[in-house]
Amino acid sequence: MNSIYCYDSELALSISPKGFLTPCCASSLRKEVVNELADLSDFYNGSEMKNIRETLARGEWPNSCLACKSRERKGVLSRRQKSNKTNLKKIDSYSLETIASLEKIDIAFSNKCNMDCVFCSPEFSSMWKKHVKSVQDLDVGLRFGKTDSSTSMDFSKEDWISFLVEASGLKKIDVKGGEPTIEESFINLLEAVVELSRFDIHINVNTNGIGKNDKFIKYVKLIPNLNYCFSIDGIGKTYEFIRGQKFSLIEENFKKYLAHCSERVTVNFTSCNLNILGLEDFVGWLSSLELFVGKRLAYLDLRQIVDHPDFLSPLVISEGEVLQAKNMLLRIAKKNYHFIKKNELYDLNNLIVNSSRDEYYKHKDSLEKYLSYFKQVRMT
Ligand code: SF4
Repeated sequence: MNSIYCYDSELALSISPKGFLTPCCASSLRKEVVNELADLSDFYNGSEMKNIRETLARGEWPNSCLACKSRERKGVLSRRQKSNKTNLKKIDSYSLETIASLEKIDIAFSNKCNMDCVFCSPEFSSMWKKHVKSVQDLDVGLRFGKTDSSTSMDFSKEDWISFLVEASGLKKIDVKGGEPTIEESFINLLEAVVELSRFDIHINVNTNGIGKNDKFIKYVKLIPNLNYCFSIDGIGKTYEFIRGQKFSLIEENFKKYLAHCSERVTVNFTSCNLNILGLEDFVGWLSSLELFVGKRLAYLDLRQIVDHPDFLSPLVISEGEVLQAKNMLLRIAKKNYHFIKKNELYDLNNLIVNSSRDEYYKHKDSLEKYLSYFKQVRMT
């Protein structure tokens, strides 16, 4: 059997919002709460990680990687495929025995967040705690387990300096959340990078962009490979329903970033059935902002597809909506926006066109109940 190559299992590590170490966000392997950055080395070279690497090398799926296996069987891009595409392909001569081989970490300092998006959960947003009971009572198949955890990992600038000195091969840090820009540990990381001049590391920060973040524009000027990715999933009322915040606020903040650091600002549009038909207006808005501030956006990422809750998936739409989506995606492709990768539009189109309408009828009731709950919430 051919081996299954996975970059994340070989050269990456992830720290979840609850402080668990794991090879990646899709893996079910969760190991010990991180108290010190030094714990990363033990996990990276520990028996569980070795077992995952060996199982994949034999062409088999480890139990902890079934999320990737299932997505790939359905023809949906898995974390493994996505990561293999965007990262270096193969390890070469250096040893996996030290943390110096580590190339990438994904880190979420906690689930602390200032938003409660409809497709989020208490694992990733502390603000979601208030919805847990009501949503579970809707009986739409959502269960959240323990929700009282909002562990915050406090890493000082000195902690980061020692770690970065040891992890000499580190090439990339993806910072996620919660919302990283409200975390002191994140600022400490940026300070350590500046102090050590580790400008070889690419730092990508996923932000909802809602905070008063003027100070982060300053770091973009100091750190050449620092990039911000704004999560914006629609305009006007669509945005406000999905994210529960004023659209005018994100528009104002986003304009500021675009004006100061355009070549290092990307946008992540997470597709769901609430916003997919608004994509054309959304890209029109991005394009008009570029004209307004006179700067070019680096990239619009269209690869994020909601699959939890499953009834919010962009594949859960009616036959008429599938046709509308298909025509809309074609119109967008014809406009040749410089910030859109055409293959991502085609992938989205294929996914929607080839999806089964059974999913729509199966999830219709749950979707209606869920939306009616959030309509009430957003009105209050
Ligand atoms: S196969 Fe998937 S779940 Fe397993 S380590 Fe790789 S990316 Fe993570």
